[in-house]
Amino acid sequence: MLQGKTAIVTGGTRGIGFAIVKKYLENGANVAIVGSRKESVDKALEQLPDYADRIMGIWPDLCDPDAVAESFAAVKERFGRVDILANNAGVSSRTSLYDYTVEEFDKIVNLNLKAVFVCSQAAARIMKEQGGGVIISTSSMVSLYGQPSGCAYPTTKFAVNGLTKSLARELAKDHIRVNAVAPGVTKTDMMSALPQELVDKISAGIPLGRVGEPEDIANAYLYLASDLASYVTGVVLHVDGAAMT
Ligand code: NAD
Repeated sequence: MLQGKTAIVTGGTRGIGFAIVKKYLENGANVAIVGSRKESVDKALEQLPDYADRIMGIWPDLCDPDAVAESFAAVKERFGRVDILANNAGVSSRTSLYDYTVEEFDKIVNLNLKAVFVCSQAAARIMKEQGGGVIISTSSMVSLYGQPSGCAYPTTKFAVNGLTKSLARELAKDHIRVNAVAPGVTKTDMMSALPQELVDKISAGIPLGRVGEPEDIANAYLYLASDLASYVTGVVLHVDGAAMT
């Protein structure tokens, strides 16, 4: 479904991002895995030996526009194009408002929102020049109703939805589609950081009767990146077993 296309996947070293990387590789794309450190990127690359000729790793500071532009240019240099950007890197927090520091708030906002802006800008500049592309960002089911602690996290995901819808309208003329995927509770390291009783409570309330697998989310990422979604832009696609619908 993605033969000949090139994708950049932030937070591609594990969890949902790694599932997206595998899904895109299986469907014919060239993929650049973006991680926070060279070591974690190398570890992810080692797990994909069959795709060595279609994969590379980069680890820019995602909030530094120059570093991101340079890395994305290296991806274009290697594969000739950048067709898909998956803004997936993210950090969560459950700190209470009373204990929140400005530093912790900034850390969440920087990765979950500012980096999405910086990466989207860098990718869109390349996509516009080549005639089009697709930007997809990982939102969350908490972008509908918020959550009872860790207020920065849902705040950034509400903002990701807003950025998605705004960029969809702004970039349509450049043939760049912009969408988001809003996962429900999904089996990754991020979920294992949640208290078990909270996970149990959330799982019990999911109409489809289970939490999501990373591949459930990657399948949505595949559809939105593919030409099957050629008339789909500005949507936040909920992939949550109807947990929040
Ligand atoms: P994870 O912790 O397994 O993976 C997070 C990824 O982000 C990792 O690849 C990590 O290297 C990367 N990352 C962290 N800090 C970074 C930094 N400073 N620079 C670059 N990369 C950095 O989490 P996950 O569950 O796979 O989360 C992926 C996305 O899905 C996030 O945006 C998260 O908010 C969202 N999400 C997850 C769930 C869930 O239940 N797991 C639910 C809704 C949304």
